[in-house]
Amino acid sequence: MIKLLDLYWQYQQIQSEIDSAITKVIESSRFIGGQFITEFENAFATYQQAGACVGVANGTDAIEIALEALDLGDTREVLVPANSFIASSEAVTRAGHRVVFCDCRPESYLLDLEDARRRLTDRSAAIIAVHLYGHPCDMDAVRRFAGEHGLRVIEDCAQAHGAEFKGKRLGTLGDIGCFSFYPGKNLGAYGDGGAIVTDDADLALRCRMIANHGRIEKYDHLFEGRNSRLDSLQAAILAVKLRQLDSWIAARNRCAAYYAENLVGIGDLRLPCVAKNVRHAFHLYVVQTEHREALRARLTSEGIESGIHYPIALPDMKAYEYLGGGSFRASVMAGQVLSLPIGEHLTESDLKAVVSAVQEFFA
Ligand SMILES: *Cc1c(COP(=O)(O)O)cnc(C)c1O
Repeated sequence: MIKLLDLYWQYQQIQSEIDSAITKVIESSRFIGGQFITEFENAFATYQQAGACVGVANGTDAIEIALEALDLGDTREVLVPANSFIASSEAVTRAGHRVVFCDCRPESYLLDLEDARRRLTDRSAAIIAVHLYGHPCDMDAVRRFAGEHGLRVIEDCAQAHGAEFKGKRLGTLGDIGCFSFYPGKNLGAYGDGGAIVTDDADLALRCRMIANHGRIEKYDHLFEGRNSRLDSLQAAILAVKLRQLDSWIAARNRCAAYYAENLVGIGDLRLPCVAKNVRHAFHLYVVQTEHREALRARLTSEGIESGIHYPIALPDMKAYEYLGGGSFRASVMAGQVLSLPIGEHLTESDLKAVVSAVQEFFA
């Protein structure tokens, strides 16, 4: 079986470090707050080249808390790409605002700013730049667009830990950046986890307070917040895994380079493109073909896992029926995208097997 993701393989590479990190947390019994959290937050802020990092309970909360901390005003509109995981838009509604979907670019699957421009109204207050599949959005263009229209910029970096735009890590290229440490992400915990990064110290403090019952000191609550904290076990595990992240991203890029070399020009297969000025984190390797279902069935029959990210564009979901739908390129792409196995766990012979299966399918 060639897997999309192999978390047990990952664990085996770093087993003794993980085990001792877990033991240390249990010995200290400081499960919430304290040194393990601070150490990971500092390490992750440094890694992402950010002024501050606030650990939270998951990536969805990270976006919701970031929106709340930005204090956009009463029920404003937030632009969200139609091609993403529902968390990107769900957080907008949960934070009391209105989702406005904009389309994605056919070659990059990322936010289409031309389409976003058409959907602006006088209620528009923010835009969520989703660095989907690990490929950074063109943040120069996003910032320019936001500047022209007075929008705040939230980066959804849930799939893009370690990715770079023009040599700069993501998360602080807009106003605030949100990360998920869901186990399957490039940097994943052993449960749920998330983080917010920003260069704005006041904004970071507001996020920290919202995520911790509106307080700084133990029983001095300045406002009603919520409970959304990263816990110490996850932080200690993440601190160990963070040290591997660059080599794992490099391995992902080697897989992608191998696919790019060997799958180019086959049938109607469209390969992911990588902009010149980025480091792609390759959380997913997403190809497009009109023969998606048949190709997927062939891969499955040869013991090769594949995925679909995502089978239904957000505006087409039942959850967003109330927005009245519309015509999105993303809806068509949802029928054609296929995620091939990528990751540090794959061997050269695994990659060869995937390439042969795809080549034979189109032959
Ligand atoms: C995973 C993901 C999230 C949400 O993260 P959780 O930790 O699962 O809440 C948000 N946005 C995108 C693009 C994601 O892939």
